Amino acid sequence: MKTTRLPSRRAFLENLSLGAAAFALSSAARSQTAAAGPQPRKLGIALVGLGNYSHGQLGPALRLTQHCRLAGVVTGSREKGLKWAKDFGFPEKNIYNYETMARVADNPDIDIIYVVTPNALHPPHVIAAAWARKHVICEKPMANTVADCNAMITACRLNNVKLSLGYRLEFEPHHLEMVSLGRDTELGPYMKMSGGLAFTIRQRVWRVEKAMAGGGPLMDIGIYCLHAACMATGANPIAVTAREHPKTRPDLFRDVEEGIDWTMEFANGAKAEFMTSYSGRMDQFRAESAKGWIEIAPAFGYGGYKMTTSKGPLNITAPQSQQALQIDDFALCVRENRPTRVPGEMGRRDMVIIEAIYASAAAGGERVEVKV
Ligand code: NAD
Repeated sequence: MKTTRLPSRRAFLENLSLGAAAFALSSAARSQTAAAGPQPRKLGIALVGLGNYSHGQLGPALRLTQHCRLAGVVTGSREKGLKWAKDFGFPEKNIYNYETMARVADNPDIDIIYVVTPNALHPPHVIAAAWARKHVICEKPMANTVADCNAMITACRLNNVKLSLGYRLEFEPHHLEMVSLGRDTELGPYMKMSGGLAFTIRQRVWRVEKAMAGGGPLMDIGIYCLHAACMATGANPIAVTAREHPKTRPDLFRDVEEGIDWTMEFANGAKAEFMTSYSGRMDQFRAESAKGWIEIAPAFGYGGYKMTTSKGPLNITAPQSQQALQIDDFALCVRENRPTRVPGEMGRRDMVIIEAIYASAAAGGERVEVKV
């Protein structure tokens, strides 16, 4: 019997170290080039929406970034804005509210606007940023509908600014290793994927209001699973089927799903089966081929990943901040005027898949074709 030769743990570590070293070297090389001449100015980022994600993740990430820095905020609370200005050392003139946000157009300190508001507000905020002629990063999900995604992409094209999504896992080493092993003929191609992401919501927050969130856990966290399946296969699904879970707390989940199971079908015959829910706990991703399997659990959070394969565990060093890598990459794309690997079209693709999943669930689990 032919034995499967997965890279040894040591080779993995060496590879990863090489990857990390390459990243560090490219940064170092840039710094050295910069040391030879004038230091390039760090691009200025303005965060729109200072809620949990900005406070807990993006603010700290912007203290680690090498090519950009926090230079302003858009917030409904002047008091919060003043605190962020003091903590991050930017001038009070760089504090905007949602009504004055368009004036950022006249502020040369700000190159990139990062939209971190509830989902329904992504389109107006991204479009406002585009018309202010600023490059934009938009948090996931891109919008509540594909039509809104189209409008956001058009606004950015018309204003000749770049649009990217906050898909941090596109920069996370465990996920990148999973992708690379799937391309490797010794483990790939992955033909079966499974897993899910769930946590429990106990109170009415905007995440359970359809008008603001666009849907339930599928929009918020299930999106990570379907995105990971596209990363793993390097392809878009051709069809989906879905079934909504019965509601155990209909008072809380009035107009969004409490949970949902879905499958994705790929042109090469690969299949993915996932679940997501706002009741319970799950955080795992598994990909299999005829030659072996790989599993990441926990798989989708900000850290603490554990990765195992049919050949044994893989130890990969996690970066201090996935978000810092993600934001710095976009800053370099802007500075070097090259395309981002997480463009608006990728956010739109995921919304096409999500709309197909909801259409299937509404039709009692019928197979729905996905037309990206
Ligand atoms: P949050 O509720 O903690 O923060 C939302 C912010 O938007 C708050 O500062 C709030 O004041 C502001 N806001 C402005 N107008 C509002 C309105 N009309 N209603 C409610 N809030 C309003 O939410 P969050 O967890 O920070 O999520 C924000 C966005 O970031 C969401 O799109 C979410 O999906 C995304 N997110 C991404 C990740 C990730 O890992 N990439 C993680 C968490 C959240």
